[in-house]
Amino acid sequence: MVFIADEIQTGFARTGAWFACEHEGVEPDIITTAKGIAGGMPLSGVTGRAEIMDSVHSGGLGGTYAGSPVSCAAALAAISTMESQDLSDRARQIEQQVVGQLKAAQEKDPRIGEIRGRGAMLAIELVDPATGAPDAQLTNTAAEVARNAGVITLTCGTYGNVIRFLPPLTISDELLSEGIGVVVDAIAEVSA
Ligand SMILES: *Cc1c(COP(=O)(O)O)cnc(C)c1O
Repeated sequence: MVFIADEIQTGFARTGAWFACEHEGVEPDIITTAKGIAGGMPLSGVTGRAEIMDSVHSGGLGGTYAGSPVSCAAALAAISTMESQDLSDRARQIEQQVVGQLKAAQEKDPRIGEIRGRGAMLAIELVDPATGAPDAQLTNTAAEVARNAGVITLTCGTYGNVIRFLPPLTISDELLSEGIGVVVDAIAEVSA
């Protein structure tokens, strides 16, 4: 059985390690990568064990923009920045700061349910504190209030009651705190 880890979103320092599978102590046969790999330039990669990758016939693995020189240059620069600024460590700092801020808000407002994630890939659930039921309406209204205050959030989840936080790994502490503060205030502003 071939084990493929999709690290397109979790890879490249996002979760506080080069790849999220490192946290689990597992070694995939194939890893897919994209997104953070080139700091926003379009690039993706499929990396795997030689016996798998070399089994594809010549030309059997390709893409319209495969090997784009500009994107590859961007990836080299992005990866070099991740190394020189130790952005995995920065992702762990971001987790500490954001989770701390969210937990403080949760103590005051039990509608903030589960706080979860790893590194700079975090999320909160908004729920009815009495029943724990997902509160999509609160989520949407809070997102609207936050947007009017200048912070665009990403709402998601099967029940539409999740707000995700994936800040840039190069964000300053001040800007991060200000942004999370806007979201927390927006939730507080929406009365129960
Ligand atoms: C964005 C994303 C994809 C799709 O990546 P493309 O490079 O647009 O094909 C796949 N898996 C995960 C986890 C993603 O976040």
